[in-house]
Amino acid sequence: MQKYNKFLMMALDLSKNHSYDYGLEYHLCSIVCKGGSVISVGFNHRATCQAVEMWADKVKKYRSWCMSTHSEMDAILRARKKTDLTNCTIYTIRRRYDGGENAMGISKPCLICQRTLADYSFSSAYWSLDSEHFAISRINKKTGELTDKVIRCHNHPDF
Ligand SMILES: [Zn+2]
Repeated sequence: MQKYNKFLMMALDLSKNHSYDYGLEYHLCSIVCKGGSVISVGFNHRATCQAVEMWADKVKKYRSWCMSTHSEMDAILRARKKTDLTNCTIYTIRRRYDGGENAMGISKPCLICQRTLADYSFSSAYWSLDSEHFAISRINKKTGELTDKVIRCHNHPDF
């Protein structure tokens, strides 16, 4: 199995077993990897904190998008004081409700998460497009912009 498939499938499994805040519209899970090992796992939740508010303020014109803690932010918050996140990779999936528990939807990092990933010098982000496709984004550490490439997933449990 490709390494990225392994971590994306791991995120899918973790998401299925996680108790999310009640009524959340989306269920996401992010895994941060360093040198092939998982160093942090994050889930989206309702409450924010000072760091999340500060990250959102940096990308002010999109402020209304960020009234919760995104799974990428949660994973970074859990890891950032313990380890240097330079050149880490983040894997994110979003589960859809309308296609069975293994169905996935787009989980491209939002502009605030893109900026935060760049600030912590992440090298790349993998994210789900749908149940059959992922994308890998290379992160421009200066601008925070992503360059995306679509990859087909061969190891989804439904295939
Ligand atoms: Zn985000």
